[in-house]
Amino acid sequence: DTRHGAILYLEDVVVSFDGFKAIKHLNLDISVGELRCIIGPNGAGKTTMMDVITGKTRPSSGTAYFGQSLDLTRMTEVEIAHAGIGRKFQRPTVFEQHSVFENLELAMKMDKRVGTTLFARLNSEQRDKIAAILQLIRLSGQAYRQAGLLSHGQKQWLEIGMLLIQEPQLILLDEPVAGMSDAETARTAELLNDLRGKHSIMVVEHDMGFVAEIAQQGVVTVLHEGAVLAQGTMQQVQSDEKVIEVYLGR
Ligand code: ADP
Repeated sequence: DTRHGAILYLEDVVVSFDGFKAIKHLNLDISVGELRCIIGPNGAGKTTMMDVITGKTRPSSGTAYFGQSLDLTRMTEVEIAHAGIGRKFQRPTVFEQHSVFENLELAMKMDKRVGTTLFARLNSEQRDKIAAILQLIRLSGQAYRQAGLLSHGQKQWLEIGMLLIQEPQLILLDEPVAGMSDAETARTAELLNDLRGKHSIMVVEHDMGFVAEIAQQGVVTVLHEGAVLAQGTMQQVQSDEKVIEVYLGR
């Protein structure tokens, strides 16, 4: 039973847009605590796949299970978010007028499990939690800086922190290093390596150097034309003839 121990399990998923199949019989499972990298050329179906997982797009057929028994294809986007799937889109969307600390505070208070109001004072446990996240996202020294003044990379880390503070069971990151400097990209790789084993994470990414940094010995999935073209360690998929053909357009 391949579903055993999986946090996410896609089986035979098909997505059609007016007859065009953006996803064709996609099978994919992610284990609890796994950091999975998804790569693939433009149009491979990566965004559509994440839209299926988050309930933004309904598959024409197939199933998508989350955890032990939740059928994502029968849930709304809000239900899926509340069930514990957090998605970070490519562009950072932080509260620009507020400080870094306040952004994390707001994210924590928006988590409906916390059951606090926006104006309630933080208790020490909540402050400690924010401090720990600040350290993890490399922004301890910027806590009282206005978020709008952060660099692009720092805003991306802040948004990852805002996701983490809500303790999602599965984190989806859409091209987290797009637009980052080399130094920021390297720090993002360190950040994700710090999260390894503690969270279940799916990263969709174009930057191969970055994928090599975070994939380590983990599984990399190559999507092409809406299905899995190859899967294995970075080393394995990089030397796969089918993958080379697709990437070099031979
Ligand atoms: P990727 O994220 O890997 O670049 P997408 O999931 O965005 O790929 O797109 C997969 C394919 O589906 C592409 O050919 C794209 O043009 C098509 N597609 C995506 N969304 C729609 C839509 N809403 N209507 C029609 N075609 C779409």
